[in-house]
Amino acid sequence: MAKRDYYEILGVSRNASPEEIKKAYRKTAIKFHPDKNPDNPEAEDQFKEAAEAYEVLGDAEKRQRYDQFGHDGVRGGAGGFGGGGISIDDFFSQFGDIFGGSGSPFESFFGGGRSSRQRRGSNLRIKLKLSLDEIAHGVEKKIKVKRYSTCDACGGNGAKNGTALRTCPTCNGTGQIRKVVNTMLGQMVSTNTCPNCNGEGKLVDQRCENCNGEGRILNEEVITVKIPEGVGEGMQLSMSGKGNVPKRGGVPGDLLIVIEEKEDEELKRDGTNIVYDLHISFMDAALGTSVEVPTIDGKVKIKIDSGTQSGKILRLRGKGIQDINGYGKGDQLIHVNIWTPKNLTSEEKRTLESLRESPNFQPQPGKGDKSFFERMKEFF
Ligand SMILES: [Zn+2]
Ligand SMILES: [Zn+2]
Repeated sequence: MAKRDYYEILGVSRNASPEEIKKAYRKTAIKFHPDKNPDNPEAEDQFKEAAEAYEVLGDAEKRQRYDQFGHDGVRGGAGGFGGGGISIDDFFSQFGDIFGGSGSPFESFFGGGRSSRQRRGSNLRIKLKLSLDEIAHGVEKKIKVKRYSTCDACGGNGAKNGTALRTCPTCNGTGQIRKVVNTMLGQMVSTNTCPNCNGEGKLVDQRCENCNGEGRILNEEVITVKIPEGVGEGMQLSMSGKGNVPKRGGVPGDLLIVIEEKEDEELKRDGTNIVYDLHISFMDAALGTSVEVPTIDGKVKIKIDSGTQSGKILRLRGKGIQDINGYGKGDQLIHVNIWTPKNLTSEEKRTLESLRESPNFQPQPGKGDKSFFERMKEFF
């Protein structure tokens, strides 16, 4: 499904100030908050959508990337990865601050007691280091992840043999206790987490022995991740449902994979281009030769014309990296350096001395050769 425009979601213009965005988000979040819209999946979706929009537009750097590249600029995910959206639980840890501290008018909407609804497990975040070869060709990686998964013995509810849970009598299953306090300003209602059930609304009479009543077990799992071609340093891929299962049932969180690039000894990456520094001798540059250069697809033989100047850039078309957003492949740029010898025997010195004054060896810049600036303009 195509994603809606983040500005449209929050109902602000593209040049809205950070303050306006924050305000608009707060309004939207309160309107669609699940506490105000119980059992309304549509409202929950809108709530999540707004949170996602704010995650981007509320961050100057992400917002800029979004303005420039759209949704692709702020989500690394490509084929095979679940939607990036954030959960309500994440939302609270990430955005709690914009609703202010204690005593704010939002507390009644956002205060405790949310746990009686379906819970969501935490996200797992792992770093994945990839070689240039893996980035250039895409790779399927098996990664070991320590994650909480549902206990098989009780099916996840934490009770012996999965028997039904008892509704907490203290809070009648709501998970929270409301207290009315008389103050100088009138009656104030405060809501606290139920101490009997810790806000869960349900009680386990006989714990499952396999998971000690948690409903989940920490296991090491091997997860296969398909990395598309062209990912880059810092990109985050998310695999939905591969995070932790929450205690005693609920929806698992996501597995977030943060890409790190291993630097290659020979080939340097510059966006979708590959840059290679080639060093040839003065003789090869003057007489011409052919040399082998490494590429992401193995060695390639290239011709060096006679009279090649130092600093020349040769281009191997299509030998770069696939753009993650499908804009095609980059090139390999070969930067030609002429190697000046540092140690010479006296005989070699004599040979060079004899050539030193020859008119053909005097630099003649501008005669049929491009200047450094012209080359830069041409290639970057
Ligand atoms: Zn169990
Ligand atoms: Zn209770």
